[in-house]
Amino acid sequence: MTVPPSGESLTEDQLHGRACHRGPTGCQGPLHPDGHVYTEPAEPGALLGWPVVACERHRETS
Ligand SMILES: [Zn+2]
Repeated sequence: MTVPPSGESLTEDQLHGRACHRGPTGCQGPLHPDGHVYTEPAEPGALLGWPVVACERHRETS
């Protein structure tokens, strides 16, 4: 079983798809859907999924 990508270290902007989730911050250019990351909610059980985005440069280097 693969571990889902964790969104625990991402900022709110990155989790909400307003900023590239692969760079530190401030990536320029168009953003594209880049799958999902997951965070653990306060209540244990299901993980929360977030549709994240990546800039063109980071998407190509993945
Ligand atoms: Zn980026």
